[in-house]
Amino acid sequence: MTENWIHESLYATWCQSFKVEKMLVEKKSAYQDIKMFETAYHGRVLLLDGVVQVTEKDEFPYHEMITHVPLLTHGAAKRVLIIGAGDGGVLRHVLMHRTVEKAVMVEIDADVIELSKRFMPQVGGASWEDPRAEVIVGDGIAYVAKAQDASFDVIIVDSTDPIGVGEVLFTDEFYQECARILSPRGIIVNQCGVPFMQSEELEVTSRRRRQFFPHVSAYVVSMPTYVGGFMALGFASKDANLTLPATSEIAARAHAAGLKSDAFYWSPSVQNAAFALPPYIDRCLPQR
Ligand code: SAM
Repeated sequence: MTENWIHESLYATWCQSFKVEKMLVEKKSAYQDIKMFETAYHGRVLLLDGVVQVTEKDEFPYHEMITHVPLLTHGAAKRVLIIGAGDGGVLRHVLMHRTVEKAVMVEIDADVIELSKRFMPQVGGASWEDPRAEVIVGDGIAYVAKAQDASFDVIIVDSTDPIGVGEVLFTDEFYQECARILSPRGIIVNQCGVPFMQSEELEVTSRRRRQFFPHVSAYVVSMPTYVGGFMALGFASKDANLTLPATSEIAARAHAAGLKSDAFYWSPSVQNAAFALPPYIDRCLPQR
């Protein structure tokens, strides 16, 4: 930090910086270094171990796309498992779908949940109190190891990058358990970083998942504060014959789910187009 500027420490040779109006939290939790601060343009910003997790200004592309795409591709998801996502943004978006009966969220760091509720209350909104929500403080890998076979329709992994506590969420063991606890048409989505800078996240994740899922692909979202171009969201399904729904079908499913047309990034046609990958990203996927 220099003269009220914070520099993100994700890459050795490149960074984005924020001018801090007010520091709100600086603490070491049991798992990671947490910083929350106020900025003039991005609103409040959460950093974990020096890496941007969420800003109030641009949380919408990420949360809308990591949630609506798998739920509407599945089309009949009733039980959803969320791993990580301590800010509450994924939980809020999952529970926008009235077709969802149960959303279990497993976040390892209670401090992230508490600080997000306190300093970014609109990210999780009323979802924390929704009777369909069950919020568990614990390790995602321990949870999936104990969960019952075929007990979830969709799993959304909103983790930190594969370093520190988040590393286990990118392993063979984790994906194998996820495949076991997903129902026969189940879908898993996880954040796979920014391929321009972190291509190995998508390469390794996709290769590992290929062992347990017959359908492995990815889609993209443009997130201003995950710098370096498109972010990749890894997508896999137990349904070998999965076909992505057409735009009109996505719109029909969104209507049936009760989604209001107030999204800022997601739309049926954006969802459909997001699976069209630029070749430098497509080449990270296993050969089909
Ligand atoms: N939407 C933002 C993004 O993708 O960068 C927010 C990510 S969310 C804050 C990431 C969360 O994953 C963190 O709160 C972290 O504590 C949690 N996490 C990391 N490893 C975990 C694990 N093994 N089990 C459960 N949660 C974990």
